[in-house]
Amino acid sequence: MTEHPDDRAPLVDLAPQRWQCCHCGGTGVDSYAETCPHCGGLGFC
Ligand SMILES: [Zn+2]
Ligand SMILES: [Zn+2]
Repeated sequence: MTEHPDDRAPLVDLAPQRWQCCHCGGTGVDSYAETCPHCGGLGFC
């Protein structure tokens, strides 16, 4: 159950401060199955 229906659109819908990493493609690991050095394993950069 929701206590307070939110009339406002979620902020994350406007400008998410994260983008799919251009190096690992968002997986967080590189082609060698190691932590992506570009995003640090987050999958976003
Ligand atoms: Zn990247
Ligand atoms: Zn990456």
